Amino acid sequence: MHLEKRVLITGGAGFIGSFLCERLLEAGATVLCVDNFFTGTRMNVSHLIGHPRFELMRHDVCFPLYVEVDEIYNMACPASPVHYQFDPVQTTKTSVHGAINMLGLAKRVKAKILQASTSEVYGDPVIHPQPEEYWGNVNPIGPRSCYDEGKRCAETLFFDYYRQHALRIKVARIFNTYGPRMHPNDGRVVSNFIVQALKGEEITLYGDGSQTRSFCYVDDLVRGLISLMETPDSVTGPINIGNPSEFTIRQLAENVIDLTGSKSKLVFRPLPQDDPRQRQPDITKARDLLKWEPSVELRDGLSKTIAYFDALLADRNMKV
Ligand code: NAD
Ligand code: UDP
Ligand code: UDP
Repeated sequence: MHLEKRVLITGGAGFIGSFLCERLLEAGATVLCVDNFFTGTRMNVSHLIGHPRFELMRHDVCFPLYVEVDEIYNMACPASPVHYQFDPVQTTKTSVHGAINMLGLAKRVKAKILQASTSEVYGDPVIHPQPEEYWGNVNPIGPRSCYDEGKRCAETLFFDYYRQHALRIKVARIFNTYGPRMHPNDGRVVSNFIVQALKGEEITLYGDGSQTRSFCYVDDLVRGLISLMETPDSVTGPINIGNPSEFTIRQLAENVIDLTGSKSKLVFRPLPQDDPRQRQPDITKARDLLKWEPSVELRDGLSKTIAYFDALLADRNMKV
């Protein structure tokens, strides 16, 4: 007999997924963490192994999965451009086949299911900030398309299972998120800049650094995802979850240099193809429907993230 809620988290050994595992265990749930360890690691959840309500399973969501659960957070998918472009076909398969399998599972066991979608569904947006009603400006055949279009197709599948099979769905459009347990080599801007600053290496600004992003600390993000899962069935999303404070990439670099006290110099590198110029979530819906908004300021979140990478690099004797 199961008294606690049984929650499946795909991609649970990744950056965001590992915090989700932690928070849901704290809230009393039984957590099944499923991951193929493509970008995630056992280390991210090693502190949870041995917990009586935690189970870790190696599995690729492109293949069917038969388990009994009440809720599913579908987080499995490489998220950094370097990782998702490493094997782009596998990236699309993970989003599309993964969504089909998890939706099939949710349908069989009547579970509620949440999809980790992304601000990338807006592509290089011509509307700013981006509300959920905006359909986006996505290149279907470029190097980022495996991720963007894979996630867009996953959203389509979620809404078709909702309309066709009356599934209880929740779609979260996650904006740039950062924090401890980001992969140090995954090429994302926050981890790159912090690692470069701590190692005294040059800080690589792509383009002139005037493009913008809005960075959400992982604790805020995870709180938002759990709030969305807890909304009434009538709330399906898509709902933007992110921090509306917008910064240029240059401002981010300056903050990192300041907080680390690094002597690193800024250098400029070519802007990758299809790199969005600007990005900022309109979170009116999240405020209204989830009663949620982020509370961690960029500099506070960066300080915690720097402390994590500082310890990680010291451990690996990689610090200058
Ligand atoms: P991450 O790379 O740290 O985590 C992804 C996890 O999924 C990893 O543990 C990886 O091993 C696992 N995975 C990948 N392919 C898999 C497969 N086929 N089967 C099973 N597991 C698989 O990335 P993250 O930043 O924690 O992102 C988590 C989710 O949130 C992703 O779906 C991502 O698209 C979404 N998201 C993240 C951000 C962000 O800024 N971090 C922004 C928008 C959306
Ligand atoms: N599926 C799964 N676990 C389940 C039920 C289904 O992985 O508990 C997979 C199944 O392999 C199928 C997919 O989910 O390919 C979609 O399932 P659905 O029932 O929607 O479609 P069908 O089985 O009719 O193709
Ligand atoms: N970026 C950068 N230097 C780096 C890594 C990234 O200037 O070392 C830029 C990148 O071109 C983009 C922004 O920072 O404009 C955010 O990149 P990231 O890969 O973190 O996320 P995404 O582009 O998916 O939002």
